[in-house]
Amino acid sequence: MLTIRNLHKAYGHTVVLNGIDLDVHRGTTTIIIGPSGSGKSTLLNCMNLLEVPSEGSLQLGAYTFQFGPQQLLDAKTVRAFRQKTGMVFQGHHLFPHMSVLENVMEGLVIVRKQNKADARKKAEHLLEKVGLRRFVDKYPDQLSGGQQQRVGIARALALDPDILLYDEPTSALDPELVGEVLNVMKELAGEGMTQVVVTHEMHFAREVADQVIFLDQGRILERGTPAHVFAQSRSERVRQFLSRIS
Ligand code: ATP
Ligand code: MG
Repeated sequence: MLTIRNLHKAYGHTVVLNGIDLDVHRGTTTIIIGPSGSGKSTLLNCMNLLEVPSEGSLQLGAYTFQFGPQQLLDAKTVRAFRQKTGMVFQGHHLFPHMSVLENVMEGLVIVRKQNKADARKKAEHLLEKVGLRRFVDKYPDQLSGGQQQRVGIARALALDPDILLYDEPTSALDPELVGEVLNVMKELAGEGMTQVVVTHEMHFAREVADQVIFLDQGRILERGTPAHVFAQSRSERVRQFLSRIS
């Protein structure tokens, strides 16, 4: 469903992604782990073209992009493509001056040009799904970090993306709030949502991931099922990293 081939990303002379090949199948959850600076966020940002790769190709559903030095991407196509990829960031990127409900409705009204009544209905349904039906009229600063992240997930779901991308969705949270966010992601996995998650929550990875990717210096050093990556990796680098964080 998402196919990435020979993906490179460089900033000037700094090579950040160095030939990534990755397949993400429909309905699966892929977890990306790896040391700080290994390129995890950059890879995720390339998946929705927040960052434009320097080389390689990316295919999602009907969209295929080839990247190269002279490649100019059509802005309209990129905008349409982005709607297929919902993004949940580490911090909560909610609009502070809008209520929880308005935050989730925003994309439906502005991007999809839906009428407000339909948008409201859908937003309420999504907020129900993430357990926040009672909070529709609150403002982001009246919510806990975990609740804000769940609003972020509802907002990302609003445009019916083909895939949800998460960049360390729980790492800014107090430990007791982590579980409520991971539970929503687990439920979505169970419903067949396709997800790519950068996270160091190893327990979650073991339980939910279909595929774990270990990135190091812009390359995939290890990949496979959680059982394989966590217990059978032949890479000393991977074993060392895992022993430090789990
Ligand atoms: P972390 O675990 O700390 O979030 P990461 O694996 O997400 O790290 P990235 O943020 O993808 O790592 O960064 C990978 C490398 O790319 C780093 O060395 C970083 O300094 C570099 N980098 C990222 N963005 C830019 C940029 N806009 N310009 C130059 N270098 C960048
Ligand atoms: Mg990062």
